[in-house]
Amino acid sequence: MAYLSTDRVEHHFHDVVIIGAGGAGMRCALQLADAGHRVAVISKVLPTRSHTVAAQGGINAALGNVVSDHWLWHMYDTVKGSDYLGDQDAIEYMCRAAPLVVRELEHFGLPFTRLEDGRIYQRAFGGQMREFGEGGLAKRSCAAADRTGHAILHTLYQQNLRAKTQFYEEFYALNLITDDDGCHGVMAWDIAKGEYHLFQSKALVLATGGCGRIFQTTTNAHINTGDGGALALAAGYQVEDMEFFQFHPTGIADVGPLITEGVRGEGGYLLNSEGERFMERYAPTAKDLASRDVVSRAIALEVRAGRGCGPNKDHVLLKLDHLGEELILSKLPNIHQLALRFAAVDCTKEPIPVQPTAHYTMGGVPANRFGEVVISRDGEEEQVVPGLYAIGEGACVSVHGANRLGCNSLLEIVVFGRACGNRVMKWLKTHRYHASLKPDCWQPGEARVERWLGRSGGDVGAVAALRAEMQKTMQTHFSVYRSTEVMQEGMDTLDRLYAQLREVTIPDHNRIFNSALIEAMELENLMAMARATAASALARTESRGAHAHEDYPERDDVQWLKHSLASIDDAGNVTLDYKPVRMQPMTVDSFPPKKRVY
Ligand SMILES: Cc1cc2nc3c(=O)[nH]c(=O)nc-3n(C[C@H](O)[C@H](O)[C@H](O)COP(=O)(O)OP(=O)(O)OC[C@H]3O[C@@H](n4cnc5c(N)ncnc54)[C@H](O)[C@@H]3O)c2cc1C
Repeated sequence: MAYLSTDRVEHHFHDVVIIGAGGAGMRCALQLADAGHRVAVISKVLPTRSHTVAAQGGINAALGNVVSDHWLWHMYDTVKGSDYLGDQDAIEYMCRAAPLVVRELEHFGLPFTRLEDGRIYQRAFGGQMREFGEGGLAKRSCAAADRTGHAILHTLYQQNLRAKTQFYEEFYALNLITDDDGCHGVMAWDIAKGEYHLFQSKALVLATGGCGRIFQTTTNAHINTGDGGALALAAGYQVEDMEFFQFHPTGIADVGPLITEGVRGEGGYLLNSEGERFMERYAPTAKDLASRDVVSRAIALEVRAGRGCGPNKDHVLLKLDHLGEELILSKLPNIHQLALRFAAVDCTKEPIPVQPTAHYTMGGVPANRFGEVVISRDGEEEQVVPGLYAIGEGACVSVHGANRLGCNSLLEIVVFGRACGNRVMKWLKTHRYHASLKPDCWQPGEARVERWLGRSGGDVGAVAALRAEMQKTMQTHFSVYRSTEVMQEGMDTLDRLYAQLREVTIPDHNRIFNSALIEAMELENLMAMARATAASALARTESRGAHAHEDYPERDDVQWLKHSLASIDDAGNVTLDYKPVRMQPMTVDSFPPKKRVY
């Protein structure tokens, strides 16, 4: 339907457009498509290649199938794990909903691993205990072997095909269509054909995943470039708590692929070069299953003290051979393969070399527990952005606060994917028609692409070189431990790289499947997210969760029990605002901050 004053753009109308076909986008789409709404899902890769597919360990729910459990203990662990920066109303909502959404997934056909009596298998994960930390390890993570994300994504994809969700595969979102009344759609680029598409919607959902690719060594897929956050920033909205980036303790040394915490959940443990099980010193109770920030810092300190392994003494060892070949091949088959392929190690016989690796974006587009995007400036109350929603790893609800617990992310994507779907349905009842758009609304999206395609010259590898330098800067200046001096140097380098980004060109000006073009636009997004991360980190003069500041080693609840909000102004500078943490849960008493010990 050509409504626009140009034939260069194909114009689509949907009730709801969801950008992202990971677990969050798919769960939201299913809720809406099953209710009969016209839902479009746009994804820059084939849906089942979204990063959710790589999730290994499991999804949390206090089912109590193996040992007794309660959603309130789960809530307590999550608040404590977040170093008290998580919003307690959202955390209560998520932990209460967990058993329901997991059973729902089971009924959708998800092939969970089973206990002998047929119930869902559950294993232990870090930072999760029973009876408010007093009752030993909880077993809360519901697993499909070590391929839980794969099982979730494929199950939800099949359900969406049944529900007739419309997928636009290999479409790249370029910019949001917004005005003072909120968000009305998105401009996208058909990667395969090199054509422009304007998607007009009554509600638009960002479900674009994390931005682990701002770092050099990461467990994240190449596509995790923070596009949703960058789209929000470009539209004048904000990103929240970007300084909190989770380093997973056990990425395969030097290369990054993840070895799930489920290995330690099954009984694996870490060793230093002296053969010592060092986590006993750092976390006497939970040991190797302390929360991730604690274990990553412990590894960094062991390496710093000269007790690292290998020729460069830069990693530690993850021992699991004592679990036996049968358990490893049945419950951790993927890990066995990954270790063989990426470290040439047969983990049924020898330990796997591991080191902390950039893993999870706790920050993202600020959203409330209904998935509505909110903004807040100059200390004023949050405002909902009409028609715009954000869910999944690319959003900050914030249920993870300063540190996420393992298996709470797969939970978050299905809980808030579903909740957002319900909220959008309510919105659609009162917003039955599409807004009228400005006739030239498609132009900024087109300009973004044509800027890259229109400039002659082009140095092969210039974009890749710039990206590599940005990733190295983030890795060395914003890693597990940070200091003001080191972060300031990193900021200065990022500013220089940001200026260079405006000058670089690409050699390939073809419109058909131009991957150089996509990588260039992804670098624009990565740069925005990296700069927001750096500015938020430099400003936070305390240590909390994943943000370990060497000049300010203590948590400071008087000054810093608040969320950071970063924006990018018209001149390209990052500016910061703050808003309070929501300490009041929905129905239970608040968990006030106290010292975190494991
Ligand atoms: C290796 C690994 C293992 C993990 N294991 C676990 C685990 O065991 N348990 C757990 O709870 N969590 C785990 N996590 C975290 C969890 O998997 C993720 O946080 C979660 O799956 C993210 O889902 P999502 O739907 O938000 O985004 P994703 O699955 O990342 O999907 C993002 C989608 O957005 C689309 N997209 C992005 N940008 C654009 C654009 N510009 N235009 C169009 N489309 C776009 C992509 O195509 C994709 O479809 C793991 C993560 C990794 C990396």
